[in-house]
Amino acid sequence: MSVNNTQPSLYRGRFAPSPTGPLHFGSLITAVASYCEAKSKQGQWFVRIEDTDIPRIDPVSIPHILACLDQFEFELDAPILYQKDRLDLYHQAIEQLKQQQLVYACQCTRKMLGSNAIYQGHCRNLQLDFSQQAVRVKVNDQTICFQDQLQGQHCSNLQHDLGDFVLLRRDGIFNYQLAVVVDDALQGITHVVRGSDLLDNTARQIWLAQLLKAPTLNYMHLPLAMNKHGQKLSKQNLAQALDLTQAPKLLQHALYCLGQPHIELDRPCLMLKQAITQWSIDQIPHSMTLNGIYE
Ligand code: GLU
Ligand code: ZN
Repeated sequence: MSVNNTQPSLYRGRFAPSPTGPLHFGSLITAVASYCEAKSKQGQWFVRIEDTDIPRIDPVSIPHILACLDQFEFELDAPILYQKDRLDLYHQAIEQLKQQQLVYACQCTRKMLGSNAIYQGHCRNLQLDFSQQAVRVKVNDQTICFQDQLQGQHCSNLQHDLGDFVLLRRDGIFNYQLAVVVDDALQGITHVVRGSDLLDNTARQIWLAQLLKAPTLNYMHLPLAMNKHGQKLSKQNLAQALDLTQAPKLLQHALYCLGQPHIELDRPCLMLKQAITQWSIDQIPHSMTLNGIYE
């Protein structure tokens, strides 16, 4: 891993892993795609560790993420940022929203609401005190549409499809939606490349960015790497941790999965350089099944 100090550029991308488990092959695909897309546009590429959800953090995963960045020889354009060091900024964002009465305290428990139900605004007008309660942001009956670079147009109605959503949990943990919007804005991120499991979160994030007067970003949601059982690679589905002794082979296979031209085995930094010169998002397939390899 090396850090460049260059001038701001028009394209600023990022890779933002949550350290809830070691990186797996699906994470590598996301990292490689966001890196090649940024660098092929003469952009900058940042890494942010999304470690706000303390109970879900797996302590061994942060050294594994750092070792992967080293072994795969990604070049970073700024030092790595850790969300746990930025809690004050998330507090400030909540304060800003409180002052505009765009958020409210919610006392509903997960048990009361059921896991998948859309929140019906039960506490919206109860004027509950904020202490010891979750903080929810209000949405309205507005349809948010964005043009995803791979998935095409994607629209969701905030009220009917999503509902008011939590920014700060009752246990004091900031929700991913808030931290990601605050950090993307403060880091000047212009383009987000990530897995399509996050597609449905994007309308929430666009809405929140609007409320915080932050710019709207460009989005590219990658097809998910699926295992032979048709499940996405994830810690829950026991995806293998990336084997740090196999970086060139893994990189070669990640580029293959992304539909990019074949790259000979070499040092990862040289493979990445070549991948950037050949990079074309038109080649990225609509679906990715790994058939047993690196699952
Ligand atoms: N931290 C999120 C994850 O690992 C990704 C956030 C993002 O790219 O917006 O799933
Ligand atoms: Zn409530």
